[in-house]
Amino acid sequence: MSNQTLPLSPELYQYLLRVSLREGSVLRALREETAAHAMARMQIAPEQGQFMALLVKLLGARRCLEVGVFTGYSALAIAEALPEAGELVACELNADYARIALRHWQAAGVEERIQLRLGSARDSLDALLAQGQAGSFDFAFIDADKPAYIEYYERVLELLRPGGLVAVDNVLWGGSVIDEGEQDEDTVAIRAFNERASRDERVDISLVPIGDGLLLARKR
Ligand code: CA
Repeated sequence: MSNQTLPLSPELYQYLLRVSLREGSVLRALREETAAHAMARMQIAPEQGQFMALLVKLLGARRCLEVGVFTGYSALAIAEALPEAGELVACELNADYARIALRHWQAAGVEERIQLRLGSARDSLDALLAQGQAGSFDFAFIDADKPAYIEYYERVLELLRPGGLVAVDNVLWGGSVIDEGEQDEDTVAIRAFNERASRDERVDISLVPIGDGLLLARKR
């Protein structure tokens, strides 16, 4: 037994996947295609996709928001967890990534639930706020350029309803958050985000050591 979060050996991780991962065929195909992509490291872990899909269902979410789509795995997991009339607003800067995502969303038959907003996520979030959509989202996932995390987080918090949840990816950043030798822009930004979230009285939080570290913050 362990009263600390257990480190996962490769064998234990494979066991976890074997006894718990329920990945649909389109999600699997998307993950396998993305594994061959030059930026494959940006792909979330499959058990993380399943975990976020469970959160979406637990929240009874109808409106979701994603900042940073990449090739669309997390968006697909979220969209499949939404009810028929549910909606995911998905922000992505890179049209090449989005093309891959769209193809798989169509294969899964959920493309009508996903409203893709190509371009700067900052602009897309500001547009949602300008359209009076503050307080209207149930769930959000932030997984985009790290130096802008705090800006995204602030906008997303406004867009969430009270009781809504934001999940922020990569908050352990491969462990480099505790390595003082790592002072690159991304690592510094993630540390700054974590420190801010840890003191943010507007939310209840939990840092879940799944994937590369997922910070959950529930708007009070
Ligand atoms: Ca990520």
